[in-house]
Amino acid sequence: MIVFDLSCPDGHRFEGWFGSSADYEDQRGRGLLACPSCGSADVSKAPMAPAVPAKGNTRQEVLPAAPPQNVANAPMPPQVQQALAALAKMQTEALKNSTWVGDKFAEETRKMHYGERDEALIHGQASVAEAKALIEEGVPVAPLPFPVAPPEKLN
Ligand SMILES: [Zn+2]
Repeated sequence: MIVFDLSCPDGHRFEGWFGSSADYEDQRGRGLLACPSCGSADVSKAPMAPAVPAKGNTRQEVLPAAPPQNVANAPMPPQVQQALAALAKMQTEALKNSTWVGDKFAEETRKMHYGERDEALIHGQASVAEAKALIEEGVPVAPLPFPVAPPEKLN
């Protein structure tokens, strides 16, 4: 995949993902590209933004909004409730030796990955963008299936 910064005659800038440069030319030639802001099909590659020196792969990009949560207004059968309660308990057990670091999770886990602090089990909060950046850097992180109440809110 290749990403191009695109712009329309009105100066709206947006990103487009393509299989290749030829794929971009092909889609553009067939009028398949349109500005998401004004719908103009007169789309062309925007001049490259000046490269900002940054360590690692920290290029900012527009992330899609978080997907909607799955919800149901039907009562869950007792077996499901029990299974979920058991899983939630297992998560609590698994996190027993783990330290809550709140919104410092991305920072702390990255430090460990780069050997800047001792390894330890931690859990906390990360935005979708932070989690994505960590995964792209090869930092092993996993989403928790159940919400964890921050310790400061348990008082
Ligand atoms: Zn536009």
